[in-house]
Amino acid sequence: MSYNLTHHPDATMLVEFSAGTLATAPSICVSAHLHFCEQCRTELLRLDQVGSQLMAEAESAEVDDSLFDSVMAKIDSAEANPEPSVATEVKGFPHSVSKLIKNPQHKPIWKRLSASVDIARFKTGQSDFEVALHRICAGGKTPKHDHSGVEYTVVLKGSFSDERSVYKEGDFLVRQPGDVHQPMGAQNGECICLSALKAPIKLANPFGFLMKPLLRINPM
Ligand SMILES: [Zn+2]
Repeated sequence: MSYNLTHHPDATMLVEFSAGTLATAPSICVSAHLHFCEQCRTELLRLDQVGSQLMAEAESAEVDDSLFDSVMAKIDSAEANPEPSVATEVKGFPHSVSKLIKNPQHKPIWKRLSASVDIARFKTGQSDFEVALHRICAGGKTPKHDHSGVEYTVVLKGSFSDERSVYKEGDFLVRQPGDVHQPMGAQNGECICLSALKAPIKLANPFGFLMKPLLRINPM
């Protein structure tokens, strides 16, 4: 496999991932990206080595699967039993994602979101993030939308584009709150993405009943 990716997690995310301080949902996205991206794997290896040198017991600078395993342990404590009814494929997907899909606990069932987009949400026990797969049909246009929270996306299959760029298999992108975009599936096949969307923070407004009449005042 040879990927020439142009979209990667930034240095801060990789440092936090290496240190084990990145939240679980973005960690799932980073680990999915690492599956495709040799450049980030190499950088992570370097960071892990720096990290282990900083620690007192730096004798063995061994970088193994323990980081990945700890991410998986967080999201999946029960043994997974592949379930034939699971409504999605896993071939060629990163290990972290196929493990999520195969775990009946997480039950990713495709649901229609719009004419050209389906969503399968994972029950990861995450209250601060919604982790889901999105499937855009070939040439499908999603409604123009923005987000109330930050969204991490990794392309698992196919490609899509928006106003800014084209995103290919393995590409990692971050959308900040307020970013408006309109993803469009490539013409040559469906596109499947993994995303982690930070749940909107609902601010309790005890003065809501007072604000409403004020907002109705005509500024003219
Ligand atoms: Zn990368």
